[in-house]
Amino acid sequence: MGDHVMTIGGVGAPTKGTFPVINPATGEHFAEAPECTREQLDEAFASAADAYKEWRKDEAARREALGKAADLLFGAGAEIGPVLTAEQGKPLGEAGGEAFAAGIWFKYFAGLEIPTEVIQDDDNAYSEVVRRPLGVVAAITPWNFPIVLAAWKIAPALLAGNTMVLKPSPYTPLATLKMGQLLSSVLPPGVLNVVSGGDELGAWMTSHPVPRKISFTGSVATGKHVAASAAPDLKRVTLELGGNDPAIVLDDVDPAAVADRLFWGAFSNNGQICSAIKRVYVPERLYEPVVDALAERARAVKVGEGTSEGAQLGPINNKPQFERVSELVADAISGGARVATGGRPMDGPGYFFEPTILADLSDGTRIVDEEQFGPALPVIAYSDLDDALERANATHFGLSGSVWGTDVDRAASVAAQLECGTAWVNSHLALAPHQPFGGSKWSGIGVENGVWGYEGFTELQVRYRSKA
Ligand code: NAD
Repeated sequence: MGDHVMTIGGVGAPTKGTFPVINPATGEHFAEAPECTREQLDEAFASAADAYKEWRKDEAARREALGKAADLLFGAGAEIGPVLTAEQGKPLGEAGGEAFAAGIWFKYFAGLEIPTEVIQDDDNAYSEVVRRPLGVVAAITPWNFPIVLAAWKIAPALLAGNTMVLKPSPYTPLATLKMGQLLSSVLPPGVLNVVSGGDELGAWMTSHPVPRKISFTGSVATGKHVAASAAPDLKRVTLELGGNDPAIVLDDVDPAAVADRLFWGAFSNNGQICSAIKRVYVPERLYEPVVDALAERARAVKVGEGTSEGAQLGPINNKPQFERVSELVADAISGGARVATGGRPMDGPGYFFEPTILADLSDGTRIVDEEQFGPALPVIAYSDLDDALERANATHFGLSGSVWGTDVDRAASVAAQLECGTAWVNSHLALAPHQPFGGSKWSGIGVENGVWGYEGFTELQVRYRSKA
């Protein structure tokens, strides 16, 4: 797997201390990640602040560098993929695909047009509104998609003229460190610094005096700490937090036709996606056929080590998360839920859990009310659509949701009543660089992606020229 080093000021930064990284497919410690000290974090921020002076000046140079970064990432699957599979658990093809997807985001932002807005041009004045960079950005990412979620931050922040210090999750630091090393060949020194360490390193970043903006993706609980920590010196924050996405199936649906898409909307990346389907509401008339179709799909899925041939789902990423999913499933079963399939950890080493479909349970059960973030899906019957909608919305979460129906207009009018950042019809998890992504309520503040995500890394300036 090679040496894992932080990148500060464009070069590898050795550390005295390290911390262990576990392969979730075996439960074994397979590598050591560098442990950033406070002094090194200061160096990283100082280097980003220094690089900002030049980087902010030349938009054409920034676009060119982002284009080169995209090309690099398009070809980086073989280098990043195996490291990502080893620390995250996902199948090798998906891990390599994540590097490619990161390239797509860089390419999009390299070419994103940013029009100047003229708001007045008359006898009195000419006035335009422009977007200026904020300065140094502190970026913090979770363990489910370390590479692509970092790209969602790096590409727009750098396009806007900011520089960055990025910290991946301690569960998955290695692929991001590798990305930092690769990108240092196309970015000027200090523009992107990548550091690694435990949760306390994140807290040092959010309270550090240099960054003007915190871009954070992670859990609601940590997001609240980040907001509080950013408040004393009014740092800007974007928070992409957890979700408990509902999918509402309407009564005109053919269960066999939607089961596959519903299943993958919930179980992609082993259910470890903020905006995965986390609960399904099904009309009573279709309840048994939908439960059966989902269970059949779950039984057919190949679960295994990310490096094994044909594996579609890997292990849960880490022990606390594995224990949490196990606990939520056990709690539902002891409360009377029916196990349509799965329901238990798998035999052998590693954090493998059977793809699980739970039936005959309702709101008020922890796995329905909380974010499970794993391969277990509760299916809930409803008799009245308005009641189902009310239950779907009766949560602090509001990341996304979906409605499934043959009459697409009717489904769209139901979807429009979901209180969340993205409302899909006959789809879930359709994400793209041009599409803003963010949450209502506790699922977040601000958005990423598209021109709106770019704007989150800028501040407005009115440029006013008097003609009087
Ligand atoms: P987490 O909140 O535990 O950790 C996220 C990151 O924050 C890690 O890098 C961690 O080291 C760091 N951190 C921890 N404590 C910190 C502190 N006090 N100050 C600053 N940083 C700190 O989340 P996780 O378990 O890594 O990720 C899973 C969660 O992330 C789920 O809730 C999921 O829904 C959410 N998520 C959201 C999105 C989104 O775009 N909305 C995307 C992916 C994951």
